[in-house]
Amino acid sequence: MAMSVDISITDRQRILDHAGSSPDEICGLLLGEGDRIVAVQSCANVSAAPATRFELDPAALIAAWRAARRGGPRVIGHYHSHPSGDPRPSATDAAEAAADGAIWIIVGDDVMTAWRAVEHGAVHGRFDPVAIAIVPDPSP
Ligand SMILES: [Zn+2]
Repeated sequence: MAMSVDISITDRQRILDHAGSSPDEICGLLLGEGDRIVAVQSCANVSAAPATRFELDPAALIAAWRAARRGGPRVIGHYHSHPSGDPRPSATDAAEAAADGAIWIIVGDDVMTAWRAVEHGAVHGRFDPVAIAIVPDPSP
C-alpha cells in the first residue's frame, strides 16, 4: 500500500476547523478509495471520557457503510484530535487500533499527521507514518 494519502484543501481545512472547535477530542470518518480521501464526515465522539478518548458514533459508521454499499465512497479511515497538542498516535490509540490498514489522521496544535494501522508498525508497534498530499479541490 502506498505510504501517502491525498486530501483536498477543503477537506483538510474541515478537519482542522473541527479539531479547533472543541476542547474535547473530536472525530470523523475519512471516505474515499484506496489512498485518496474524497470526503470527510464529522461524527459524534461517544466516548464516556471525550477529553482524552474518542469513540466514533457507531450509528454514523453503520450509515457510512450502508452508503458505501449503495455505491458511495468507502470508509477508508477516520480522524480525531488530541487537545493535548501532540499529533502522534498515543499508546491508547495503538491499543485500540486493529491492524486493518485503516488510515488514521490525527490533529494536535493545528498539525495534521496521518498513519496506517498495521501489524508491526513503526510507532507503538501499530502505526506506520503516511505522508499527506494536499491536492486541489475537485472542480465542480
Ligand atoms: Zn488519539
